[in-house]
Amino acid sequence: MSTRPEPLFPLFSGLETLEGIGPKTSLLLAHLGVQAPRDLLFTLPYSGIDRHLQDSVKDAVLPATLTVAVTVGPHRAAPTKSGAYRIHVEDAQTSFQLVFFHARGDFWKRQLPEGSRRIVSGRVEMFDGTAQMVHPDFAVPEAEADTIPSFEPVYPLTGGVTQKLMYKATRAALSRVPEMDEWIDPEQKKQANWPSFSDAVVQAHDPKSLEDLAATAPARERLAYDELLAHQLTLALARASERRKKGRSSKGEGHLRKRVLAALPYKPTGAQTRAIGEITADMATDLRMNRLLQGDVGSGKTLVAFMALLAAVEAGGQGVLMAPTEILARQHLQGLRPLAEDAGVVLEILTGRDKGAERQAKLAALERGDIQILVGTHAVFQETVVFQDLRLAVVDEQHRFGVRQRLELGKKGRLADVLVMTATPIPRSLALAQYGDMDVSVLDEKPPGRQPIRTALISTERIDEVIDRLRAAIAEGRQCYWVCPLVEESEVSDLIAAEARFERLRAALGEGVVGLVHGQMPPADKDAAMAAFQTAQTKVLVATTVIEVGVDVPNASIMVIERAESFGLAQLHQLRGRVGRGTAASTCLLMYQAPLSETGRQRLEVLRETEDGFVIAETDLKMRGTGDLIGTAQSGVPRFRVADLERQAGLMAVAQSDARKLLADDPKLETMRGRSARLLLWLMRQDEAIPLISVG
Ligand code: ADP
Ligand code: MG
Repeated sequence: MSTRPEPLFPLFSGLETLEGIGPKTSLLLAHLGVQAPRDLLFTLPYSGIDRHLQDSVKDAVLPATLTVAVTVGPHRAAPTKSGAYRIHVEDAQTSFQLVFFHARGDFWKRQLPEGSRRIVSGRVEMFDGTAQMVHPDFAVPEAEADTIPSFEPVYPLTGGVTQKLMYKATRAALSRVPEMDEWIDPEQKKQANWPSFSDAVVQAHDPKSLEDLAATAPARERLAYDELLAHQLTLALARASERRKKGRSSKGEGHLRKRVLAALPYKPTGAQTRAIGEITADMATDLRMNRLLQGDVGSGKTLVAFMALLAAVEAGGQGVLMAPTEILARQHLQGLRPLAEDAGVVLEILTGRDKGAERQAKLAALERGDIQILVGTHAVFQETVVFQDLRLAVVDEQHRFGVRQRLELGKKGRLADVLVMTATPIPRSLALAQYGDMDVSVLDEKPPGRQPIRTALISTERIDEVIDRLRAAIAEGRQCYWVCPLVEESEVSDLIAAEARFERLRAALGEGVVGLVHGQMPPADKDAAMAAFQTAQTKVLVATTVIEVGVDVPNASIMVIERAESFGLAQLHQLRGRVGRGTAASTCLLMYQAPLSETGRQRLEVLRETEDGFVIAETDLKMRGTGDLIGTAQSGVPRFRVADLERQAGLMAVAQSDARKLLADDPKLETMRGRSARLLLWLMRQDEAIPLISVG
């Protein structure tokens, strides 16, 4: 089945094939992302108008849309041509007016003759002390009461498209839904009490009450699940097809790892040991590893990566660790070289700064296999960099790289295992959407002995107090990061802000005590500034967000962030994670520009309340929505039409395990359920996944 199955043709034909839709309307609907009848099925009402028959308009809170039975009273013609034509009516308890503009009196005299009984429905509001319904949506004889929908769906609109049109168009699309076998696991469907697909679409478009519009309504939930299941099936197919490609088994006997563990001044946490186990077991299989290591800041991902790299070396090959910035690459070099020496392994660094003969020498050593572990920046993936036998590529702090680099990485070591590390504590639902094709190891435990970080909010106006406290803390031997924000779009003005702050702190705290680091500095100056801070020559490091990711100076125990309100929560969490790494109690001061908006305050308070990156990420998602949290366009998180990753987060995990299980049981998707799963992929426009289905 590599072409669209026939039963779906009517849903994928042109919109003009629907009754009442012409070429002009088709173009307008495109603005809603609607290109075929199929898309109308998944364009659901977001609200509804309650038109239940009520007794009277008397006690309603106006304005409101109301439906009541009335006795028609006297008509009053419009005083002027553009004036209002008024009809006095009485419901069970009170009287009000029906109002028409540009009305022809004789028409309304016939439609609503004095003394007749009518059901009217429309928006009622107070005007000059009188309740009035301007242009009722419905005014029908009592015998025709059932022509008024008791609950009317409200659709998203775009210019030129009316509710009436959307209503008609969606009905027409619904009539084209074919009979299809179930693709959802029967147990799951029963447990969740979901209707069949064809019932679900009808119900979702015909809500009976506001409750039916909730994300938890069975029909909506089912359609959301269908969307997520299709997405997870695609990822599962990609994963399976990736894994079918021959990888190679890298099985070390552990002698290098043992040496390093023996030399370590601490014991790995349980989570680290578990992750190392999962990764090395995966490397030992002859399938290609494609794994994500997720762990909050400070959870000790570097050690896990290093152990995996040693396993690659033990197996006779090489490993590479790529960091997103020069500073981080150098830090890895500093941190890992002593461990590499313990193990007797050659570890080198390669960055854009390596030039000329030195670079040539490194490249030659790498190609000969004399360098066993390479640490570096993007430079390690240039074409001129050739490994003798690359077995493992580790990418640190992946969120800085983006999906494109991830693909590039895949090309570099065709047979190499891949481990991606991220500290971005993205909510589980997003992680599954974004990395569902990968296997995941999680570090959910922090090294022991860490003190909680005290976080306080403080207005910029009190900067002098902050500086005074800093002076006292420095006298006690503590060190401090001072982060200047990205206030403007232009890097130049940010630099000016950072440099001005640097000057002010230097004047207040003393020459030589304060350092400065930012992205625009010449590399050597950057190194020098970092080194001076690491060795505690400088006590305060003024920085732009270049220190955000990964920098590790355990003695630094104070973090000041200016204009904290302008940062994302995840970013603030990352920044704060730079302190609280040693045994001293740490403090984070979030300085804000008063006045702080209500949501601005709430956001910062979340950070004050918790250090749990996942709680922070979930809150961020709730407050900002999916799109903002991760630049959606480049993150690879798809936009779902029905599914709501905030409110239906749990469904994503179910969809993933369901999809993986379905494929494990039926890799070629040939059982009845497997065949309907193919249909689902087509229905959900995931047909690029079809060629990935195993054929052999
Ligand atoms: P991240 O996960 O943020 O990359 P790092 O790997 O930089 O974290 O580790 C943070 C700090 O914790 C480092 O100073 C590291 O040496 C230390 N560390 C790592 N694992 C342990 C452990 N099991 N016990 C104590 N300290 C540890
Ligand atoms: Mg790290």
